[in-house]
Amino acid sequence: MYDPKSLVADDFINHEEVLGTLDYAEKNKDNVKLIDSIIEKAKLRKGLSHREASVLLACEIPEKIKEIYALAEQIKKDFYGNRIVIFAPLYLSNYCVNGCVYCPYHMKNKHIARKKLTQEEVKKEVIALQDMGHKRLAIEAGEDPVNNPIEYILDCINTIYSIKHKNGAIRRVNVNIAATTVENYRKLKDAGIGTYILFQETYHKESYLKLHPTGPKHDYNYHTEAMDRAMEGGIDDVGLGVLFGLELYKYEFAGLLMHAEHLEAVHGVGPHTISIPRVKRADDIDPGAFDNGISDEIFAKLCALIRISVPYTGMIVSTRESQEVREKVIKLGISQVSGASRTSVGGYSEDERPHDTEQFDVSDQRTLDEVVRWLMNMDYIPSFCTACYREGRTGDRFMSLCKSRQIQNCCHPNALMTLKEYLMDYASAETRVIGEKLIKSELENIPKDKVRAVCRDHLEKIEQGIRDFRF
Ligand code: SAM
Repeated sequence: MYDPKSLVADDFINHEEVLGTLDYAEKNKDNVKLIDSIIEKAKLRKGLSHREASVLLACEIPEKIKEIYALAEQIKKDFYGNRIVIFAPLYLSNYCVNGCVYCPYHMKNKHIARKKLTQEEVKKEVIALQDMGHKRLAIEAGEDPVNNPIEYILDCINTIYSIKHKNGAIRRVNVNIAATTVENYRKLKDAGIGTYILFQETYHKESYLKLHPTGPKHDYNYHTEAMDRAMEGGIDDVGLGVLFGLELYKYEFAGLLMHAEHLEAVHGVGPHTISIPRVKRADDIDPGAFDNGISDEIFAKLCALIRISVPYTGMIVSTRESQEVREKVIKLGISQVSGASRTSVGGYSEDERPHDTEQFDVSDQRTLDEVVRWLMNMDYIPSFCTACYREGRTGDRFMSLCKSRQIQNCCHPNALMTLKEYLMDYASAETRVIGEKLIKSELENIPKDKVRAVCRDHLEKIEQGIRDFRF
């Protein structure tokens, strides 16, 4: 039975409820009166239920889709302004005991080189990332209790936070590792992580079991209930995601929103972020082998609909997507992008992009400087801010600030200050000129005089080399 408050995956991602939703959506996809009423509700910026949002996803009426896109753009501006948070993934180890059929790290893949970073190598990677200007990382590892136990992950987090190289520092480490126990989540929390990210891959249980034929990840319920354990362990910022291409996107979309509703119903706080990866070509993996690949148009529609359905949730698009696709979806709702990513273990310390340990091909291969310049040329503010979790603005505190739109008063000045830092420490001359101009004009647009004065003061201090790392 469908019950968003249940702690059992089969109840809160209830298969019959998803099928009922898809049926309801299909029957109402031309019901203009209903569609209009759902769009009106979305305009209140309080989100939509999975049933309502699924009707909009099924709708193919061009004028309505245009309206949805315009609303997504507006909601994005209202909640996130023109800031785009920047991060990079850091691959620690590709040892894995799972059998995920879409991932080259699967245990049976004998031709991929297996590698696990030593703490010395972690240090080299982090210095390379700091030298680009990164402040926020998402660490990634395969699941292997012998090679990558929680102690190894914790050691890596400690190493990452301890490295202060020139003016650089990694100030926020997000963690994308396999589902684990409450006790281990508590250890991650104590290590000072930002968001715990775990992609569901697919919400369709039957497909999930086939796509994960062996290894601990085969346990659908354990995987799906991971966010509840993470929250029980004290982590209040969790990141959801679906690997689009594995199953029918309409099913995944309903499941994803049901998961968000479940977190809100049980813990009083929804997901901090939602990621929207698509399956990519990789060693031993042909995305064509999966029947449910989605076009760029559907990808954009999904993005716009997630934006209006969970307006307060950050949305992440990675370098799996090309510059062109990223441009389109940033406008429709994305608030975080990765830049200059390498998906290989030890890849940042190499001059050339290594392929032997790589997880998948990245489409956007530009440098961080190019990504920053590109964003600014489109009038976005690339933000290296990591203040929220260090200042205790996490979980429901963050959400209530975000829902009441007060988050702008912290995030906007912080974005400008961290951009200033980036420009001074790492940017090319061309990027710096564009950035300084942008900061100047943005400063005038900060709504409250007091906030603007503080921001101006901090910007001057940064110029004098006085860094206050509260941002
Ligand atoms: N081992 C961890 C787990 O099981 O969740 C997570 C780490 S894995 C490095 C991060 C994500 O990469 C996976 O959750 C999956 O969605 C994604 N991924 C795996 N193979 C992929 C592929 N061929 N193309 C795109 N993304 C892929």
